[in-house]
Amino acid sequence: MKLLDHYSTNARALPWRHPPGHDGPRDPYPIWLSEIMLQQTTVATVTPRFERFLQKWPSVEGLAAAPLEELLGEWAGLGYYARARNLHGCAVKVAEIGGFPSSEAALRQLPGIGDYTAAAIAAIAFGEDAVVIDTNVERVVARLHAIDRPIKDVRPQIRTLAGELYAGVPSGEMAQALMDLGATICRPKNPKCEACPIADDCKAYASGNPQAFPPRPAKAKRPERHGIAWWIELDGQLFLTRRADKGMLGGMAALPGPDWQDGEAPPSPLPAIRHVFTHFALTLRIEQRSQPPANLEGWWHPLDRLEEAGLPTLYRKAADAMLAQRKEAPLHA
Ligand code: SF4
Repeated sequence: MKLLDHYSTNARALPWRHPPGHDGPRDPYPIWLSEIMLQQTTVATVTPRFERFLQKWPSVEGLAAAPLEELLGEWAGLGYYARARNLHGCAVKVAEIGGFPSSEAALRQLPGIGDYTAAAIAAIAFGEDAVVIDTNVERVVARLHAIDRPIKDVRPQIRTLAGELYAGVPSGEMAQALMDLGATICRPKNPKCEACPIADDCKAYASGNPQAFPPRPAKAKRPERHGIAWWIELDGQLFLTRRADKGMLGGMAALPGPDWQDGEAPPSPLPAIRHVFTHFALTLRIEQRSQPPANLEGWWHPLDRLEEAGLPTLYRKAADAMLAQRKEAPLHA
């Protein structure tokens, strides 16, 4: 098949991957870890973090034995923190049952493993037959068949058509070949059709405007939220707290502050940062306080070692803004 031939000589070298045609044993742990990290996060961001994770926890048993706070700290900056909590829950479960199951159905029972991830692990780690469909695969299939409706409206059709691509070939190799094609050639914008091994079979290419497929649904405006973070500093230390386990940034280290509110931020002289989450945009103002509220649990963290605090990007941004402001106009106690 043209796509697999192309993959055999053009596969991306990724640290969690075996080269095309690899016939030896495969450890499902790094494959699972990479698949979870790659959900919503780019290969470029994931690669160094994946390597650090594996160095720190070379086995799923080691990861299962790690304190959740340590894992959350290591995950800081990768976003979508429910993934990190599920990662830990899954590692604990896998260690308990003595290893990853090999079937899609059994994998799907584990925390944080949905349809796509179960299919990917079953196919890539265990050589099972599975139809692995991520957003790259959806786009390639939609273009091959010039499907002119938004993906969300045609998922069953895409599944059937993707199944035809997977029929009679090694699923793991095909999954990775399709992912590579979608990431490097059949990109969302400006697909490189002249370099595409399956251009002869592609109806979108034949149409003369491949990028028009699949059509994108109109983007809804992102809702606004606003909030306040307290900057409480004493003797070179910053007071941090841990967010509630459930909800946004659950379980992560944070600057303390009241719950965020819906709506546009009211005018204020306080410094502010903006952070865009998937479902809303947040304006976070930073207010200096001299001490934490009496009943607030937290800890003092040295300001000159803030990178070790495990702060997610939102609070790193807030801290960086405060520290940058201080350089311009030093604070006075
Ligand atoms: S020919 Fe172009 S649009 Fe069609 S699959 Fe290849 S890269 Fe995508």
